[in-house]
Amino acid sequence: MPFCPRCKAEYRAGFTLCSDCQVDLVEELEEPPAMDPCPEGDKESSWVFLISVYNDVEADMVAGLLGTCGISTTRDYPGMGTYARIYFGTSLGVDLYVPEARLEEARSILGPGQRTSRR
Ligand SMILES: [Zn+2]
Repeated sequence: MPFCPRCKAEYRAGFTLCSDCQVDLVEELEEPPAMDPCPEGDKESSWVFLISVYNDVEADMVAGLLGTCGISTTRDYPGMGTYARIYFGTSLGVDLYVPEARLEEARSILGPGQRTSRR
């Protein structure tokens, strides 16, 4: 069925011009922009605690693993402030956070046996 792209009126087959708008009819109306199935970066999500690891190296491993699955991570250093980290070079532990919407997915990627509790 031809449609008018401007007023969305449906015409019978054979019509080629909208009598109201004087525009060419189209066979199908353009769909409204679909929701992006893979939103970039989970910007609207809030971060939730996923796992606690020993140090940045371990955090990098987890972040890399999740990153290959498109899950972004952020980290927090609960053991020390930034001031102490600068002096000692390492932290006493790293908390990794993932977007709330990806939490279950992230947990399944890490699999059983992970340490999910804060020390
Ligand atoms: Zn029209």
